[in-house]
Amino acid sequence: MLNNNIISIVIPVYNEEENLPELLRRLFAVMNDISRPYEIILVNDGSKDSSLAIMLQERKKNPNLRIIDFNGNFGQHTAIIAGFKASRGNQVITLDADLQNPPEEIPRIIAELDSGHDSVGTIRQKRKDSFFRRYASKLINRIMNAVTGFTLHDYGCMLRGYSRDIIDIINECREVSTFIPALAQKFAVNPVEIEVSHEARAKGESKYSLFRLIRLQFDLMTAFSLFPLQMITILGMMIFGAGIILTLCGIFGYGVNFMLAGITVTCTGITGEYTGRIYQEVRKRPRYVIRKIYEGDN
Ligand code: UDP
Ligand code: MG
Repeated sequence: MLNNNIISIVIPVYNEEENLPELLRRLFAVMNDISRPYEIILVNDGSKDSSLAIMLQERKKNPNLRIIDFNGNFGQHTAIIAGFKASRGNQVITLDADLQNPPEEIPRIIAELDSGHDSVGTIRQKRKDSFFRRYASKLINRIMNAVTGFTLHDYGCMLRGYSRDIIDIINECREVSTFIPALAQKFAVNPVEIEVSHEARAKGESKYSLFRLIRLQFDLMTAFSLFPLQMITILGMMIFGAGIILTLCGIFGYGVNFMLAGITVTCTGITGEYTGRIYQEVRKRPRYVIRKIYEGDN
């Protein structure tokens, strides 16, 4: 276990050329103000724009910038995991590169870590996302709390802080699909949530299409509960019961057939989610491939 005073900032980056200069300018200003040793780890998650070139340019001026360059796009959470593995600080902060998470909030997260909290979650105030995203998140937060037994208010905000103990435990987890805030919550002994401000994406577009968002929610749900699987069993029993009643009453409608078919397909899909994940785990493929790490003198 590391024992130092270093703060590691981990940022996943995917096609953020328009945001990086402003992000780094504000981030360095905040971190230099804190007057504690720090490192900034940018994980380039297969950007196709000039993000890497901008990072390398910045590194010439700031040697405490470390860059992990993936050789493809492995996803936001995987990028953060790679950043965690490389991190050297005893406090680690994550944030997004698109300036939706103001770097100016970082000192408040550090203050919570300093006061002994091992996981600092955040709740976005006046969230600047589409109506659809805001309400979908509300629903997901509710469902996730119900099925996991956690009491997190905002699973999606990635401006968060973790102590070295939590990072070490997360680094030991070998799962392929994961959702970091929930993972941290699971292992935290003294977690806290604070409210932070939220801004609209400064430039560029969200990297999450509707389809990718749905996939991410499945990661969250299936990685942390067997609830969907258990629901299938209960549903199956209910259908069986309904079948008996219908047969006794002599009612066989098309509607019922369709409903049953729908339920069967949905259930198969959910079971498939788990099976697919088991398959991913047993394949034991590397979760990501690093092309190069730029740090120190290279
Ligand atoms: N990101 C990434 N890999 C991806 C998708 C996103 O590293 O495959 C990064 C992205 O550059 C940003 C953060 O993850 O720093 C959050 O992405 P985005 O802002 O697109 O998500 P949203 O805010 O719409 O949920
Ligand atoms: Mg964003």
